[in-house]
Amino acid sequence: MSLDYYLKFINDQSNLILHDLRLPYIKSYYQIDTLMMIQTFFLILEVKNHANFIRFDHKNGVMYQGDKKYEDPVGQAQAQVHQLKSSLHKLGIRDMPVKFLVVFTNPKAILSEEKDERVIYSHQLLQKFEELSNENQTSFIQMPQLNAIANQLITQNKPLQSDMFKQLGILPQNLKLGVICPSCQHLHMIRKHGHWFCPKCQIKSHTAHLRSLFEYQLLFNSQITNRQFRKLCNIESIKTASRLLMSSGLPHIGEHRHRIYHLNYNLQQDGRYLLDYFDKLNFRE
Ligand SMILES: [Zn+2]
Repeated sequence: MSLDYYLKFINDQSNLILHDLRLPYIKSYYQIDTLMMIQTFFLILEVKNHANFIRFDHKNGVMYQGDKKYEDPVGQAQAQVHQLKSSLHKLGIRDMPVKFLVVFTNPKAILSEEKDERVIYSHQLLQKFEELSNENQTSFIQMPQLNAIANQLITQNKPLQSDMFKQLGILPQNLKLGVICPSCQHLHMIRKHGHWFCPKCQIKSHTAHLRSLFEYQLLFNSQITNRQFRKLCNIESIKTASRLLMSSGLPHIGEHRHRIYHLNYNLQQDGRYLLDYFDKLNFRE
């Protein structure tokens, strides 16, 4: 999120920014955190959220966070440059310069003083971007072609579907379903006179089920039926469920009981409250 703040200053009609790409490369995949596409060069941002004192041993491909060892992100980004060039080559783009930066977004990160100009804090991104723009002024493609390449990369993108239940060792049937009170976090609110009612703090809400839909997308998948929605929110009436789903503005296909609603929440924007919650937990430690 701290990186998004700085990207907003750069993002205009002359460039395109793609996030979280996972692209095919020789029977496997490579990942790019953020790709900035400009007519004169492409810029890969390898984003790191590590805190504390960070130093590098590029020769041995190691990054140290205090005593802990990690793979050197500079080496990772160099590999991505190579892989992206290969992908571009296949799309008929041969001479486009591909640059990279490793960006540390955590305000508690302290980078070692041995200067490596490819490793920066997020607040240095604007200045670094301008430097790179000045060094790379030859346009290799026109804007329509840039758009076409972005679309091609998006088509090739295969997001990693991690199975959160498996990872955490939880069974789906162990989840507590229901609508959470936005005021006191009580589970679960009840449906009463056309709104959600919290039996604990007595507040009314018309939108409390939207959080349940968002979390359904996070936990399961991005499609939901009337039946699944009723189970999720403890609603008995098919009509009520249908009305709530229709009023949530989600795109849908199919009619009547075959209708499938497509959950299209933006995990970064709509999930902000989860990050806040996570921060509070860390703060308590
Ligand atoms: Zn409540």
